[in-house]
Amino acid sequence: MLRKERFKMLLDYFTTNFPEPETELVYGNPFELLVAVILSAQCTDKRVNIVTPPLFERFPDAESLALSNAEEVFGYIRSISYPNNKAKHLVGMGRMLVEQFDSQIPASVDELQKLPGVGRKTANVIASVIFNQPAMAVDTHVFRVSHRLGLVPSTATTPLAVEKVLMRYIPSEMVPKAHHWLILHGRYVCIARSPKCKSCELKSFCAYYAKNVAA
Ligand code: SF4
Repeated sequence: MLRKERFKMLLDYFTTNFPEPETELVYGNPFELLVAVILSAQCTDKRVNIVTPPLFERFPDAESLALSNAEEVFGYIRSISYPNNKAKHLVGMGRMLVEQFDSQIPASVDELQKLPGVGRKTANVIASVIFNQPAMAVDTHVFRVSHRLGLVPSTATTPLAVEKVLMRYIPSEMVPKAHHWLILHGRYVCIARSPKCKSCELKSFCAYYAKNVAA
């Protein structure tokens, strides 16, 4: 099957069956989403959603984070992964927002990546979810699902390589939704250790299924 056909089947399926996908992180404004995405690195959205309500109450904006310190922030996020580093990143992020961005979340991926704790993946999530830009954040789920389905060649061995192929084949207006579709499919169906291939609605055009399950 041509790669182009596979992408078309994927996008047609999700457009019909899951037209309005959303992030599972709970947030009320761009600042809160930025904090939540930084916290979600190597951590589940479920766990992040447990710690953020009191965190957002104490630190509702960049200014409040900038005036605090890592020790205090640590007390709110101790139950998530890498709390020490993330506490330092959050305070640094708040300070940079205040000092260099007039306390506003920048819209460009390049500027977002200047913020402490914000790598390319986080920057792409913010650009996509908040600013509806065609930015594809490749996390572990997007990476795995893209390979299993056969959306990307086996030579695409880095998140950036996968991102480039996805961006070439997915129409830009569909990229923000496609990002959620691939993440959610990886989280609930195409699970890392035991993909639910028998009940998967994408199996008719999945390269992994054709090679490992149907054969
Ligand atoms: S058929 Fe299996 S490997 Fe393919 S996308 Fe579905 S769950 Fe993943």
